[in-house]
Amino acid sequence: MTTRALEGKTALVTGGSRGVGAAIVSRFAEEGAHVAFTYANSEEHAKTVVAAAAATGGIAHAIHADSMKEQDVASAVAQTVDRFGGLDIVVNNAAVGSFGALEDLTMDEIDAMLTINVRSTVVTIRESLTHMGSGGRIINIGSINADRTPFPGQSIYAMTKGALASLTRGLARELAARDITINNIQPGPINTDANPADGPAAPSMLGVMASDRFGTTTEVAALVSYLAGPDAAYITGSSLNIDGGFAA
Ligand code: NDP
Repeated sequence: MTTRALEGKTALVTGGSRGVGAAIVSRFAEEGAHVAFTYANSEEHAKTVVAAAAATGGIAHAIHADSMKEQDVASAVAQTVDRFGGLDIVVNNAAVGSFGALEDLTMDEIDAMLTINVRSTVVTIRESLTHMGSGGRIINIGSINADRTPFPGQSIYAMTKGALASLTRGLARELAARDITINNIQPGPINTDANPADGPAAPSMLGVMASDRFGTTTEVAALVSYLAGPDAAYITGSSLNIDGGFAA
């Protein structure tokens, strides 16, 4: 059940055209926020997300911005502020994963993970802090792989998500005086294009979990919504698992 807990708030979600990001955009719009989101490649999906929000009376705005490019990321923050008149909530969701033994990954693949998953998150937060006031919320989408990497081939992806957990702890110390919280959500397997519940890797993942199913994007969006809302004011610097017992 949704409320209108985010009425009057403005939000930016990176990578909101598909998967977890699209569910967060929809949830924020349902909760009454004005929400901008970035996408890089999936223009048609982005239009669908905007239309779906409008159909429920919500306001979503798509911004083409490649998280590989610092200028695009900075511009997305500026465009959000220009359009909505402020910025209260930022969700760093855009990410890529390339999986394989370290010596089999290309440096381009490694650089993309470092740039999109980590560097663009730092840039987004730096740019957003210029505009964010008391009550601000920053939510990073990390991964349970930061804490547990049961399979070979995940080292660089896991490292990027571990970086978000550390960034979250460190920035909590800087931002509490401004009444801004920052937290890191660590999903386990969630059914998306990137990790389909019927994909070839699914049985191995289910084999190391307490739960017998993948999570849904709406389950992750509900936790993001809670952290973005007024009831979560005392949570900061935390990494919260939503992983079906992947790390249990
Ligand atoms: P998807 O691959 O399904 O979606 C990724 C989203 O990020 C898309 O909207 C995509 O937009 C966007 N994106 C990718 N690259 C860029 C870029 N260079 N610039 C801007 N946007 C970009 O991923 P998920 O929904 O599965 O994952 C979302 C988050 O959840 C990620 O941070 C991921 O690491 C994390 N996560 C996911 C898990 C899972 O099992 N699914 C498990 C643990 C963590 P576009 O298509 O327009 O390029």
